[in-house]
Amino acid sequence: MGKFCSKCGKEGKANAKFCEFCGNQMVEETVTTVESESVTPTNGMALAGFILSFFVPVLGLIFSIIGVAKAPRLNGNRRGLAIAGIIISAIGIGLTALIYFGYFAAILDEATSYSYYY
Ligand SMILES: [Zn+2]
Repeated sequence: MGKFCSKCGKEGKANAKFCEFCGNQMVEETVTTVESESVTPTNGMALAGFILSFFVPVLGLIFSIIGVAKAPRLNGNRRGLAIAGIIISAIGIGLTALIYFGYFAAILDEATSYSYYY
């Protein structure tokens, strides 16, 4: 089975680089494998985001979002970890917000209760 010339349509030799009938350059059909695919880079952002989510939720959230965004380009590398980082960060931020709101609510409550006495 030979190769068909894209210019004149005639069948040439399988290993021919040029068409023996019209001299047209034969298109190489074998697809060259991409080297980078064999080496999968690790998603450092996802790991950093996951760890940071426990200590600095805001930074953990940012790093985790970047980690999720980067995951498809890294063949889904550590996507789950990045999502876990986002969830943990969100809980951390939520709890911090609740503590602050609770604190302010207590101050406001105290302030309003004082005003009742005067
Ligand atoms: Zn040809």
